[in-house]
Amino acid sequence: MSKKPAPTPTLHKVIMVGSGGVGKSALTLQFMYDEFVEDYEPTKADSYRKKVVLDGEEVQIDILDTAGQEDYAAIRDNYFRSGEGFLCVFSITEPESFDATQEFREQILRVKNAENIPFLLVGNKSDLAEKRRVPLDACRERAAAWQVPYVETSAKTRDNVDKTFMMLVKEMSRLKQGLEPEEPEVKRKNFACRQQCCGIC
Ligand code: GDP
Ligand code: MG
Repeated sequence: MSKKPAPTPTLHKVIMVGSGGVGKSALTLQFMYDEFVEDYEPTKADSYRKKVVLDGEEVQIDILDTAGQEDYAAIRDNYFRSGEGFLCVFSITEPESFDATQEFREQILRVKNAENIPFLLVGNKSDLAEKRRVPLDACRERAAAWQVPYVETSAKTRDNVDKTFMMLVKEMSRLKQGLEPEEPEVKRKNFACRQQCCGIC
């Protein structure tokens, strides 16, 4: 008797976007390999693949860690078009990187031209609380205006790293199954949080 071949796991394509130096590579490498890489080559874009179990089912996550090539509109548009879910990262210590998220958001909306795009606003470097220069309220307001979840992560301490990727992949999976985004619950969690933390605690 021949064995049935294992079903091919669903592939979810995640794109890391955000200004240089905010920790896109550090977050990606922490999620992939459980280590904090402090000096990853800043100009290097790379892609990664990881199998995870989501709601009891094995799925594959493809992560494209962008690195500045997206300054060229054609390359950027290709990246964004190929993406199915986006982690839009800034550093809570750098207001310019927070400002830049606005432009990334607009570019993604323009290229994808879809109603529901799995997208999380990610404030990284939460371990540097004493150097915080982007107020938590401003982060939450922007996420609310965009109707997306807001999360704070630390690629250094690994805080919320798995949660963030898994939350995005969950949204991507729901969308592919034709389910509504988990918006009301996400929003409730986001704004009920009284701790100076993540919004998904
Ligand atoms: P990218 O250009 O967005 O890919 O940023 P990198 O991942 O290369 O990180 C830029 C710098 O910030 C590096 O020196 C990292 O070590 C540092 N970094 C990244 N994430 C964190 C974090 O969560 N906390 C702290 N303290 N430093 C971080
Ligand atoms: Mg990088």
